Amino acid sequence: MVAYMDHKDLSNRIISQERTVQIADGVKKVAERIAKAEEAAGRREGSVALLAATKTRDVGEIMAAIDAGIHLIGENRPQEVTAKAEGLIESCRERGLRLGGDSSGSQTVGFHLIGQLQSNKINKVLPYVDTVESVDGLELARKVASRAQAKGLVKGIFLEVNESGEEAKSGCGPDQALDLAYELAGMEGIRLDGLMTIGAHVDDEVTIRQGFSHLRGLRDTIRSSGEPGADSCTALSMGMTGDLDYAVAEGSTIVRVGTAIFGQRAFI
Ligand SMILES: *Cc1c(COP(=O)(O)O)cnc(C)c1O
Repeated sequence: MVAYMDHKDLSNRIISQERTVQIADGVKKVAERIAKAEEAAGRREGSVALLAATKTRDVGEIMAAIDAGIHLIGENRPQEVTAKAEGLIESCRERGLRLGGDSSGSQTVGFHLIGQLQSNKINKVLPYVDTVESVDGLELARKVASRAQAKGLVKGIFLEVNESGEEAKSGCGPDQALDLAYELAGMEGIRLDGLMTIGAHVDDEVTIRQGFSHLRGLRDTIRSSGEPGADSCTALSMGMTGDLDYAVAEGSTIVRVGTAIFGQRAFI
C-alpha cells in the first residue's frame, strides 16, 4: 500500500464549496490554454482532449472536475483505481453518466490507466478502466490481451515510448516502438489506439518538442503501415501541466493534466 493513502481518504465524496470553485476554475483555465495552443498551431478547436490526471485526488475532487466539463480521467496507480472506482461509478450514475468507455460520447467519462501496471494488478483494474496508456512491452500487452479476451472484452491500449531516454521513466525505447506496435496491433483482446509519452524533464523547448515530434512520426508510420490492426493507432497522448503547449503544437490529441486543474499535489 502506498503511504500517502493512509493520510487521505480517496473515496471521500464531500468537498468544500471553495475547493469546488477552485477546481472548476482550473478546468476552465486549462481548456482556454488548450484552445489558444490549438489556434496558434492552426489546429481545429476541440481537436485535443483534456484528460484530468487524478492521482492523489479524492472522488469529490474528481467529480468537481467532471461537473466542470471533464470527460476523460486518468489514474496512475492500480490501488487508487480500486479505492475510488465504486464512488466514481455511483457519482457518475447520479449524474446520468457512465464511467469507462468511449469518452467522445457526452454521456460517458473515459477512464484510462496512465501509470505503471504490474501483472498481479491487471485483474484489479481491468473491470474499471477502458484503456491502458502505459503498455511498454510484449509481456504486459499479452497479459492484458488474454485477460480481456477471457472476459469477452477488447481493451484500448497505448504503447508508451520513452522518448527522452531518461532512466527514471518507463516506456519502451524509441527504436523498439515500431516492432512492438505491430505486434500489439495484431493481438486479439486489445486495440492499439495510439502512443503515449512523458515529456523530457528539462527546460529546453527544442529538446521537449523533439521528443513529441518523434512520437508523432512514429504514430504516422504505424497508422499508415498497412500492418494488421495498425490503422486504429491514431491518438497521441503527450503534454502535461508544464509542456502541454508544446505538445499541442506537435500534434498531441490528448493532454494529461493534474497540477493545473487541481493545484499542487500534497503527496508524491
Ligand atoms: C501526474 C501525471 C500527469 C500530470 O502531471 P501534472 O504535471 O500534474 O499535470 C500526466 N501524466 C502522467 C503519466 C502522470 O503521472
